[in-house]
Amino acid sequence: MTDKITVAGVSVDTRHWIGGERVASAGTFTDVSPIDGSVIGEIARGTATEAAAAVAAAKAAFPAWAATSRAERARLLHAVADGVEKRIEELAIVETTDNGSLLRSHRRGVMPRVAHNFRFFADWLLTLEHEDFDTRGHTNHVDWDPAGPSVLITPWNAPLMLSTWKIAPALAAGNTVVLKPAEWTPLTASLLADITAEAGLPAGVLNIVQGYGSEIGDALTSDPDVRRISFTGSVPTAKRISASAAANLTPLSLELGGKSPLLVFADADLDLAVDLAVEQYDNAGQVCLAATRILVEEPIAEEFTRRFTQKAAGIVQGDPRDEATDIGPNIHPRQLEKIDGFVQRAIAAGARAVIGGHRKDGQYYAPTLLTDVAQDSEIVQEEVFGPVLTLQTFTTEDEAVGLANDTRFGLAATVATGDKERAGRVTAQLVAGTVWVNCFFVRDLQAPFGGSRHSGVGREGGNWSFDFYCDLKNTVTAPKGWKDRG
Ligand code: NAD
Repeated sequence: MTDKITVAGVSVDTRHWIGGERVASAGTFTDVSPIDGSVIGEIARGTATEAAAAVAAAKAAFPAWAATSRAERARLLHAVADGVEKRIEELAIVETTDNGSLLRSHRRGVMPRVAHNFRFFADWLLTLEHEDFDTRGHTNHVDWDPAGPSVLITPWNAPLMLSTWKIAPALAAGNTVVLKPAEWTPLTASLLADITAEAGLPAGVLNIVQGYGSEIGDALTSDPDVRRISFTGSVPTAKRISASAAANLTPLSLELGGKSPLLVFADADLDLAVDLAVEQYDNAGQVCLAATRILVEEPIAEEFTRRFTQKAAGIVQGDPRDEATDIGPNIHPRQLEKIDGFVQRAIAAGARAVIGGHRKDGQYYAPTLLTDVAQDSEIVQEEVFGPVLTLQTFTTEDEAVGLANDTRFGLAATVATGDKERAGRVTAQLVAGTVWVNCFFVRDLQAPFGGSRHSGVGREGGNWSFDFYCDLKNTVTAPKGWKDRG
């Protein structure tokens, strides 16, 4: 195994990052680009040994990092953000090569947001305060004590964005971190290790173990020295991690899948509603928040479908490095097979593909809209994680809400309506961590983020991130000369 590979002109270390040093493994796994199926390189394939070493490094670094002043932690996180901003071009092209998402959105949206993740939580840390309060003359004082080594496990659909959305608050809180990136997208995490080292983050504060979740996941999540586990990924993996963490009662934050609805009422701005619907194909449908179930009020369903079909025909699908491309490939041949399996089973069960319904050359799937789907069918109930939408109609507001809430998920929901009162009534009844009205994907880091039901456990963002990554402590001090113990 070579220690370094060159990816689109950028040098990337293929080894783990443990205790401030690069560490190799005996074995490797092959990283492949979804753009053209070419081999990018061999990456260190972690085992339980490296997992334990990473947790040990995080444990050793914890006391000093936890004792570092808030101001100094914030300064270092801003230095990391500076480093990210200096390397936006490199991070963007490496991420695109690795996961096939658009280069232009990595450049203009995602990587600046990665830097913002560090800046936001650095600044938020400095605002954490709870006014002291009085109980019969005694003072209550609340502290956000760092919890300890935290294991962060992330998926491939937005690798650096999703991992730094966890790393930044965990480090800001004074915790040390072991990150396990997804095995399909290991590269930008390695670049982040370089950036944090250059920024002066002490050794062992951030550790990265590469490899398969099935091989090292249990070692990380069952380690008794781990004080927090934050996971973004699928429901089956979340169940496995929950079982593993249960042995030590390790607190978990789980951000999972979804099958979110887009409710389009007859009083909506139809062009806006169509734009919102077509937007759900972004990132080739590999977005947890995607509103993949379009629910349209009956009288406008035909016109909506006509305009949707027209707009979707303009989607440019191709090489994600081209500026003109709207959606790129899907991540892996296995994922493509999964997507096509869902679609073909739906069609066999009576669904009609208004557009798409098939693979294209390479690792691309045609944007697909399926109608004539039953509410209890697999295609309506299960997350596809590809460019596949279903369309159902409703006739009353109650029916719309009923259909919207009728899956085991509850991550997000979008409502398109021109009636403010209806918006209020409907949003009050929706079961979802995030609800958008006449918009989509507007996210502020101070908002609580997470899912209900099988879409997750807990919320992160703003104070909620610090509540999760800290052990909150209330200290009650008696007034001078207090004797009464009654
Ligand atoms: P996945 O669950 O297969 O893998 C996610 C991560 O878990 C990977 O790093 C993987 O290596 C690791 N893993 C696998 N087995 C493990 C084990 N036994 N122990 C510990 N870690 C293990 O999910 P995926 O297919 O990579 O990601 C797609 C899923 O993620 C979708 O369901 C999507 O909706 C969800 N997602 C959710 C959000 C959110 O914020 N709610 C964001 C993005 C993606």
